[in-house]
Amino acid sequence: MSKSSEKPKQPDEHGEDHECPICKDTELVIKRDERGYEFASFCDCRERKAWKRRFKQALIPDEFVHANFENFKRATQYQQSMYDMTLEYMNEFKKDGGEKVIAKHNLGFIAVVGEQRLRELPPHERAPMKQKHNNFGVGKTHLQIALTKRLIKDGFNVLVVSDVTFMDELSQAKRMNDEGETLNRLLQSAIDADVLVWDDIGKAKWSETKEGLYYQIINERYRKQKPIVFNSNEDRGTLSEKIGYAAASRLLGQCGPYLLEVEGEDFRLKGA
Ligand SMILES: [Zn+2]
Repeated sequence: MSKSSEKPKQPDEHGEDHECPICKDTELVIKRDERGYEFASFCDCRERKAWKRRFKQALIPDEFVHANFENFKRATQYQQSMYDMTLEYMNEFKKDGGEKVIAKHNLGFIAVVGEQRLRELPPHERAPMKQKHNNFGVGKTHLQIALTKRLIKDGFNVLVVSDVTFMDELSQAKRMNDEGETLNRLLQSAIDADVLVWDDIGKAKWSETKEGLYYQIINERYRKQKPIVFNSNEDRGTLSEKIGYAAASRLLGQCGPYLLEVEGEDFRLKGA
């Protein structure tokens, strides 16, 4: 997590540490109405603190904490398309008064020629194909984190998971002797979030256990009509090989118009 967003606590006149000196972190203040009667009201810091809590809970990877729409580079046509699609997708979310409207569709950025397909090529064909169909460093994660931050600001609960780490955590939890307590807690957080952002889905090494877990999460979210925002270095075909056919068809099928196959130059190699 970013340390820069943390405001240092200021000791008050009693030497106590409060982030908000107005309400002393109770998030409540006493106000008076026009007739002089006292009533309790929410402090102005409440919304800011709620935002910080959601931001912390989202688990945004450190290297993307500063990613936003403004600093996303649109140097090529495909980057412009990714950008336009993400903004259009964001319009499916609304917050009218207290009522949250969550997108029904998933948003996915995938490869034209997946990693798994490239790996299966004979060595002499692999390098040229890899160069021709690069989809690393094209800004998929950057844009989806920019979206995440905007949605958090608008009051949505977003959870960001990174495929390899998350699948390892789930597999380990499944082997624990705690009657499934840890596993259920992890699964529930992934199922309950308003939006699940799944970075690099299909990167983890395939196993039967993982295939079952992918399906469980994707299918549960589908049943609850909750969206998944994802990106992958696999393509339509190879994603099935990595996460299972049933999970992949449901994940991709829920994208509607919001599925984009991207490839292009690796901007990280250009020192950008
Ligand atoms: Zn306050």
